[in-house]
Amino acid sequence: MGALDSILLELAKNSMNNLVVAEGDHVGEDGLLYCGKCNTPRQKRIEIGGQSVVVGCICRCEVEKREREEAAKKEEQQRQIIEYRREKCISDPAYRRLNFAADNGSCPKAVEAARWYSENFGQLKAENKGLMFMGTVGTGKTFASCCIANELIDRGYDVWLTTMLPLLRSAGNFSQCDSVFERIQRVDLLVLDDFGTTKNSERNMELLFEIVDARARSGKPLIITTNLIPAQLKDPADLSLARIYDRVIAMCSCERSPVVLNGNSIRGQIARGKHRAP
Ligand SMILES: [Zn+2]
Repeated sequence: MGALDSILLELAKNSMNNLVVAEGDHVGEDGLLYCGKCNTPRQKRIEIGGQSVVVGCICRCEVEKREREEAAKKEEQQRQIIEYRREKCISDPAYRRLNFAADNGSCPKAVEAARWYSENFGQLKAENKGLMFMGTVGTGKTFASCCIANELIDRGYDVWLTTMLPLLRSAGNFSQCDSVFERIQRVDLLVLDDFGTTKNSERNMELLFEIVDARARSGKPLIITTNLIPAQLKDPADLSLARIYDRVIAMCSCERSPVVLNGNSIRGQIARGKHRAP
């Protein structure tokens, strides 16, 4: 018997020593041990160095159990990757939990439009068609836009959902602006929450124009939520604002846009106390 055969024989002995007989296991007509649950062999005969040796093997239910565990492990890893990406895509933790599963039916029009947009995103992205949610505080426009963002993140898209104030702050920061504008152009979907609420200082309007312009040049869709009313958006008093708003209206041009919302307040149901990112 060669050295390799000796090693194999040793392994075979170990496989038998490690075999724990479970309740219901039984010896079949062939003299091998069978699993009491799935009735398939837990032992088999192999040839080592010319002699027949019985070794342990795994039965069918054990194979299936290991496959299930492997699949569950992969799924968990996948889930962790998505959650890690969600943290990058949505800076406000409260917004990460606003998804279709959290819908309580209080803003059906907003949610219906969000579902439609998510379901058709592949085509809408190819056609560069964005969406606008208009309405006063508490009409579900932020909830709806978060539903779209979270759904698309689940599906592996790169999304950036941000409120205006932190975006303007980082876009106006010398050390951050390059990466901010690179990201504005890169992501599959940009969602600007609370558009039109920031102070219309000259600096802010300059930045806002640069942001909107950069996104327009990327050829990728934009979603905004705003509490401006259609008349304010179409005919602002200020010429620089008109230039920005015209651009946004042209970008948010899918057939459902704008989704104009009125109705009962759902504020408080979403992210109470942490409605706006710092
Ligand atoms: Zn079994």
